[in-house]
Amino acid sequence: MKKHLYIKTYGCQMNVYDSGRMADVLAPIGYAPAQAPDGADMVILNTCHIREKASEKVFSELGRLRLLREERKAEGKGDLLIAVAGCVAQAEGEEILARAPYVDIVLGPQAYHKLPEMVAQAERAAAARANGDDKAAGPGRGVLNTDFPEEAKFDFLPAPRAEGPSAFLSIQEGCDKFCTFCVVPYTRGAEYSRPVEAVVAEARGLVEAGVREITLLGQNVNAYHGVGADGAEAGLGHLCRALAKIPGLERIRYTTSHPRDVDDALIAAHRDLPQMMPFIHLPVQSGSDRILRAMNRGHTRDRYREIVAGLKGSRDDLALSSDFIVGFPGETDKDFRDTMALVDEIGFIQAYSFKYSPRPGTPASAMPNQVPEDEKDARLAELQALLQRQQIAFNQDCVGREMDVLLDRVGKLPGQLLGRSPYMQPVHVTAPADLRNTIARLRIVSAGPNSLGGELVAAADPPHSSERACA
Ligand code: SAM
Ligand code: SF4
Repeated sequence: MKKHLYIKTYGCQMNVYDSGRMADVLAPIGYAPAQAPDGADMVILNTCHIREKASEKVFSELGRLRLLREERKAEGKGDLLIAVAGCVAQAEGEEILARAPYVDIVLGPQAYHKLPEMVAQAERAAAARANGDDKAAGPGRGVLNTDFPEEAKFDFLPAPRAEGPSAFLSIQEGCDKFCTFCVVPYTRGAEYSRPVEAVVAEARGLVEAGVREITLLGQNVNAYHGVGADGAEAGLGHLCRALAKIPGLERIRYTTSHPRDVDDALIAAHRDLPQMMPFIHLPVQSGSDRILRAMNRGHTRDRYREIVAGLKGSRDDLALSSDFIVGFPGETDKDFRDTMALVDEIGFIQAYSFKYSPRPGTPASAMPNQVPEDEKDARLAELQALLQRQQIAFNQDCVGREMDVLLDRVGKLPGQLLGRSPYMQPVHVTAPADLRNTIARLRIVSAGPNSLGGELVAAADPPHSSERACA
């Protein structure tokens, strides 16, 4: 009998990719996707540990799933397997099983290829319990795997399936940088890069299945150093050149980059390859050298400026987004003013900004001079207002321009399609339905704070050329 699986994904795009891979690995053992937890035989929470709020949400969701399981049982619909994956699982595996002993499976991000055997074990235990055989069921429900195994999970996972014209492709995992605020080096482990040929083969498979745009993923995507066909290490610039040779791959993006790892080869790839989208997410976190040092970011404000100048020198239509943390321990009003000044100077077309959230086990959580919450709130509101003004100004500046838009969805209004500009702005247009999943040239005719409206100029996909994305 077919079973149903619902995966709830929290956090970053890496988790979105991982959720897809977990679904792929469970399909051969009979799990088909469910649209909601009700009606699912197994629910996986793919969790995020980056900020306190993100991990607390998991425990409240687990409480709801426990009730859902009881309801199912009362209605005679059988058991519900509950699994917790992702970074909360990695960091708090034992605590999850202690606080929520009804959880069946806890697995860290490096163990996803072990999921089928863990599910089989949990199913056996559940069946034994249902038959009243508590001895065979074992002491509790939880099966835990938060190892960092020797083997690379990618070698054991099936090729991902394409869903639509856009796909994520994970090329790098983990982090060796140890920013003092961040849990990633502890939850995702040391940096690992997939070999160039494995990445190219996965990309080729996706393109053959209809994908036009690939976003390369990594916690430090531009720290990529995969082994090439010649046995030598290749960086992200080299990898993008190899991917750009795949016929039909129209757009290449990558995220998240670290300023320290932007090199000349990557800048040259932006200059030479029309498939490279002119939009880079390059988190700076703070504009204060003092705070950047305390964060262990490994770059100064001036170095960030130089990197941005190098990237913008590669093509004149390049634009940036960033992440910011306000209220890092010891951040003074002067430090915050430095951040505001840097934002003013560089100009970001989109951004994510957060209040500093102390994470257990990270050096910053034990630093003195933690900033009071109300101060963090005030700074965040001021920063977000500036970032929002910059985003709106850029959107308005797009009116009258022509852009290539990947139309990947049906809009809310009749005859409307939705897509993404080269800068990831959502764009809506009235266009024939058969243009869905193609790249069309649109003239931008309206701009809101978060989206654009377009008019169709040319239906056919633009050929590969040196033509710029935004003319
Ligand atoms: N590797 C990327 C980099 O170096 O910029 C960032 C990846 S991190 C998963 C995503 C973002 O979460 C960070 O850029 C940072 O702004 C935010 N973040 C991480 N730890 C945080 C913390 N303890 N409090 C608030 N925001 C945090
Ligand atoms: Fe976290 Fe810093 Fe690594 Fe980014 S570079 S994942 S912020 S430790």
